[in-house]
Amino acid sequence: MRARFFVPFRQATPYANALMVFILTTLFYLLGAMMRLVEDLSLFWPLNAVMAGIFARYVFLQRWHYYLISFLAMLAYDAITTSWGVASLMINFSNMVFIITMAQLIGLERKRINSAPEPVNALTLFSYCLLAALLCAFCGALGSVGINGQGFGALLADWFGEQFSTGVLILPCILTMSWPRKPLRFTLREAMPVLGVGVSIGASVVIGGAGSLAFPLPALIWCAVRYSLPLTCLITLLTGGLEIILVANQMINIFVATPEAMPHMFSTRLGIATMAICPVIVSVSVGAIKRLMRQLSLRADFDFLTRVYSRSGLYEALKHEENRFADRHITVMLLDIDFFKSVNDSHGHECGDQVLTSFAQKVQQVLGSHGLIARMGGEEFVVVATTADPTDGKRLAETLRTAVERHPFSWRQQTLHLTVSIGISSGNTEASQLIAMFNELLAVADENLYRSKKRGRNCTSDGALAERPQTRLSS
Ligand code: GH3
Ligand code: MG
Ligand code: MG
Repeated sequence: MRARFFVPFRQATPYANALMVFILTTLFYLLGAMMRLVEDLSLFWPLNAVMAGIFARYVFLQRWHYYLISFLAMLAYDAITTSWGVASLMINFSNMVFIITMAQLIGLERKRINSAPEPVNALTLFSYCLLAALLCAFCGALGSVGINGQGFGALLADWFGEQFSTGVLILPCILTMSWPRKPLRFTLREAMPVLGVGVSIGASVVIGGAGSLAFPLPALIWCAVRYSLPLTCLITLLTGGLEIILVANQMINIFVATPEAMPHMFSTRLGIATMAICPVIVSVSVGAIKRLMRQLSLRADFDFLTRVYSRSGLYEALKHEENRFADRHITVMLLDIDFFKSVNDSHGHECGDQVLTSFAQKVQQVLGSHGLIARMGGEEFVVVATTADPTDGKRLAETLRTAVERHPFSWRQQTLHLTVSIGISSGNTEASQLIAMFNELLAVADENLYRSKKRGRNCTSDGALAERPQTRLSS
């Protein structure tokens, strides 16, 4: 039985949700405010991205009263701890602009790609962060002019850089966060990528300079390839957060060759945001490739035993080779080996398998470039060939039948002779209805195969079926 983990929000408990929204807002406000001690405006402001992620994740929280509770929690905190007065209204309103814009955009995106396994496309998330950060920065800069003597331009850059970088770092983490499905294994081999991140951050501290921020990137991409998406997002967040703190405390010295007038934190945050998205993109891509490979191996376009197309593989081939078969006269044949059961009964199942494989290869060889062959199941095969007219189709079927009749199948020291019964159907196809036409021709071929069996086997039948409408079919 799966363990039941703590779920912070439930649709059925609105009061508990409201309380939780209030507590989390206050908690992350406190965290951000604590970092305000380092600079005038906060160095790292996780509140907006965390709350946006929560509102986006728990769609039922996207109601005005929950947003209002979060807003009131911010105002209450400011009222108690600052003397900002009315300015607090505008500053916290801009926080809400980021939260609501992100939550609504991600909500819409999730509805749009409901079937997609990823919470949201990484590049889309990146552009949403850009938009929400711009809107929020505009309101925030307007609201905080005069608080610490900075001008509108510098405030805009500060707000934008901060919102954008924390958004890109935190949101993927919140949106993908889940309990590990299998227990984490701490082998040295497993830990190598994360150790690589640690070593490269150490190198950033020791070496410094503008490029030092990008040092952890290769190790982060290594994490993305090795670890799950949630773990990659978490490591990326921790790396980005740590780098911001190290730069702010001059432990990573990126200012070596930078003119003093440059707003340092602005370029640092943008650089980190750009870096942070790379491993997320890689991780999502690796996940998609793995899923695709699983799907491909499941679909098995080729029959394992005879190595010709499987039934589903034939449909895929028809779709891909539409140019070859559409708007042409085609012949569909159904081939069934006569008395095949007796091969199994007299020589064993292994011999039966070997004969099936040789049979398929023989038909394919005679068919050449005229068409495709697929195994429908058991000892029944289908051939689709482009032909000039019904007579040409009949001629090809006879060629296949006689080729099988004359072919000695060998099994160990023995020689076996087989015959095959064939049902034929042919007609002109249209590009838009190739698959539908093929299915129709196949049904007629099936009935004609039954005729061949009834006529004594080892023959081909292409008789028109009286009860079928023969609009575009000539069988
Ligand atoms: P008919 O002329 O009426 O077609 O007679 P038949 O014996 O060929 O037809 P039937 O459908 O009665 O038997 C088909 C046999 O094919 C039964 C099954 O054991 C055998 N068969 C189906 N798939 C495989 C396979 O993958 N390997 C082997 N060795 N035998 C198979
Ligand atoms: Mg059969
Ligand atoms: Mg048979």
